[in-house]
Amino acid sequence: MKAGKPALDIITSDACTGCASCGDACGRQAISICLSDDGFYRPLIDRETCNDCGACAQHCPIVQGPDFNDRKAPEATYGAWSNSESVRQTSTSGGIAFELASAVLEEGGVVVGCVMRDDHLPYHRIIDSMEELQKTKGSKYLPSNLEGVYKRAALETSRRRVLFIGTPCQVRAFETYVKPANRDRVLTADVICFGLPSVLPWKSHVAELFGDDLKLVNFRDKSTGWSHSSVKYAMKDGTVIHQKSNEDVFLDGFHTAAFHQLICHSCPFAKIPRVGDVTLGDFWGVPPEWKDERGVSLVVASTKRGLLAINDLRERGQITLFNTTLQVAAAANPRLLSNHPIEHPHPRRAEVLRRLAKGEPLCSVASLYQPCLAVRLLKRVLPSTARMFIKNVVRTIKTKTFRAIIERGT
Ligand SMILES: Cc1cc2nc3c(=O)[nH]c(=O)nc-3n(C[C@H](O)[C@H](O)[C@H](O)COP(=O)(O)OP(=O)(O)OC[C@H]3O[C@@H](n4cnc5c(N)ncnc54)[C@H](O)[C@@H]3O)c2cc1C
Ligand code: SF4
Ligand code: SF4
Ligand code: SF4
Repeated sequence: MKAGKPALDIITSDACTGCASCGDACGRQAISICLSDDGFYRPLIDRETCNDCGACAQHCPIVQGPDFNDRKAPEATYGAWSNSESVRQTSTSGGIAFELASAVLEEGGVVVGCVMRDDHLPYHRIIDSMEELQKTKGSKYLPSNLEGVYKRAALETSRRRVLFIGTPCQVRAFETYVKPANRDRVLTADVICFGLPSVLPWKSHVAELFGDDLKLVNFRDKSTGWSHSSVKYAMKDGTVIHQKSNEDVFLDGFHTAAFHQLICHSCPFAKIPRVGDVTLGDFWGVPPEWKDERGVSLVVASTKRGLLAINDLRERGQITLFNTTLQVAAAANPRLLSNHPIEHPHPRRAEVLRRLAKGEPLCSVASLYQPCLAVRLLKRVLPSTARMFIKNVVRTIKTKTFRAIIERGT
């Protein structure tokens, strides 16, 4: 009996987030998740096996859209950090993700989080040990592979606590698997999401620079501070390479959104209310009295469940919190509530991806998105006071814009 269409036929590939949820939903195993020619995870449907039952569409975050019946405005907005120096130092911002996760493990629950595989691609795992949890620390600025994870994680929710951490579209996908009777055992944390890049530039970058010698990568190493973090590449022979983010061709392309998947430019989840019980980000607009180069997290609790989890960590002495407002939070974190600043794909995106798909190395394609030599030189010679002044002017304009957006109730 035909009751619907596969999710991908409803939304088309350009709107797909690569979350892999439809693959888990198909009882006939008609969907496999593959890397497309331009380096994004996409469902491949076996048309002979598919019977158009429409089950996969019920679990697609884009078909279902944001579902916010249980919330309106956030319960609270905080700046925060872990009270453990080592957790804070080895996490991307303030280490709140790790603290939430370790509390769930201590209670006998499991954590669904993202770890880097030996082939330097991230994937989500169901984690039940502190040793494995360590590997979730740090943002991996690449699409994570969640094939098979949603269904298994949903089974866990019937017997123990589950914390799911991921991008907002992954969180929304997971929510579709949780039975209402089990919802109280579930806590979800979404990250403020700048979007996901193709894996082609990353694979090319690693192959060009390191071949098989790379052991580990940390996209946000804090040895030069949180706000000036660098990317750290550790080789198998013990050599360590630090690269400034804006001098790393892969990260530069990520930050300019030169090779993002298309849906990330009009993400339906970059808005208030947020999809997770808790939302985590870097508190870039942290008030000066709280600024700390060890890292400060931005935390938005959107449900009572999220608020309880965060306040519980404070009561147990695991984290420090201070109150802030959505306006302050959003000023330097536009993706908290809008698609700014990447509402439009990079003008050279298609060319970048086409040339990478043909096998051209990233270093020769990077000139399509890197600033010209004159701009780079200007950045170097402009005194930091002048750069600060320009930044402050831009920030003031943004604050006014976001205040207007919030007041409009977007
Ligand atoms: C792709 C991506 C884009 C982001 N963009 C922004 C942004 O624009 N603005 C901003 O303020 N913050 C952004 N963040 C969030 C930020 O980098 C921190 O992850 C967040 O502040 C939490 O920091 P933490 O110190 O608590 O934990 P962290 O040490 O950062 O732990 C990260 C947690 O996120 C999960 N995770 C890591 N990589 C991925 C991935 N590729 N896919 C899904 N889950 C993952 C891990 O399971 C882990 O639990 C982004 C994160 C990612 C993964
Ligand atoms: S059989 Fe149903 S769930 Fe599977 S791909 Fe087809 S429509 Fe989707
Ligand atoms: S469920 Fe995810 S992977 Fe499948 S079509 Fe929807 S967005 Fe794409
Ligand atoms: S920007 Fe939106 S669609 Fe893209 S990965 Fe993040 S949450 Fe998913």
